[in-house]
Amino acid sequence: MSNDPLQIEPIPAFSDNYIWLLHRGDGPCAVVDPGDPAPVLDVLARRGLDLAAILVTHHHWDHAGGVPDLLHSWPDAVVHGPVDNRLGDWNQPCREGDSVTIPELGLTFSVLDVPAHTRSHIAFHGHGLLFCGDTLFSVGCGRLFEGSAADMQAAMDKLTALPGDTNVYCGHEYTRDNCRFALAVEPDNAALQQRAEEVQARRERGEPTLPSTLEGERATNPFMRTREHSVVTAARQHAPDAAPGADTMAAIRAWKDRF
Ligand code: ZN
Ligand code: FE
Repeated sequence: MSNDPLQIEPIPAFSDNYIWLLHRGDGPCAVVDPGDPAPVLDVLARRGLDLAAILVTHHHWDHAGGVPDLLHSWPDAVVHGPVDNRLGDWNQPCREGDSVTIPELGLTFSVLDVPAHTRSHIAFHGHGLLFCGDTLFSVGCGRLFEGSAADMQAAMDKLTALPGDTNVYCGHEYTRDNCRFALAVEPDNAALQQRAEEVQARRERGEPTLPSTLEGERATNPFMRTREHSVVTAARQHAPDAAPGADTMAAIRAWKDRF
C-alpha cells in the first residue's frame, strides 16, 4: 500500500451526480455511488488506477446502476452496500455496527443506518470523511421516498453527532438551489448568507461546492437546524403547530418539495 496521502475527487455523472473517487496517486482505488460506469472507466484508464472496492449508499440507479459494468471490467472489486434485495447478488451487505475495510487503501469506514430517502440508506464514516449519498446534502437533505420526517430527523441527529471537522461528501451538486431555499427559511442567518455567496462564486467558476464540513452544515443547513427558533418559526408559517424536531422537519421538507 502506498503511504501517499489519500486523494478524493469527484467524477461528475449525469446532470448533477458526483461519483467519489478515492486513491493514493497510483495503484488501487475505490469509488462511491457509481451510477454511471463510463466516466469511472474513463478516469481509471487515464490514471492507470485499479478498482479495488465500490461503496454504495442506496439502491437508486443513479448511485448503483454502474456496478455491474464496473465488475465486468474489475471482477475482483468488492462491493459494500446496504442490506437490500433490490441490489444485485454482487453486493456484500453491511449495516450499522459493521465496519467496511479497503485494505488496498488502508481505509476502514463505519457504517451508519440513515433510512429516510430510502428505507435501507446507509452512510460511510471514517478518517474524517462522511459519504452520505442522498441523505444529507450540503444545505439540504434528500427527499422522503421511503421514510418519514421522523426518520430523517433521526438521520440528521445521528450525523450531527459526528465531529465538526468531518468532510461531507454528498451524492449530488444541489447546493446552490438548497441555499436559495435555506435563505427563504432563515433570511437572517449570517453563516448561510456567506455560504450562499461562496457557493454562487464556486458554481460560476464551475467548481464543486463539496466537500462541506459538518460544522458548516450545522450552521447553515435548515434540516440540521429543526430545533432552532428561527427554523421552527419559519416552519410554523406552513404548519402552525409544528414542534421543534420531527414536526419542523416535516413542515420544511414539504415546503421544499413545492419550493
Ligand atoms: Zn437517491
Ligand atoms: Fe441520487
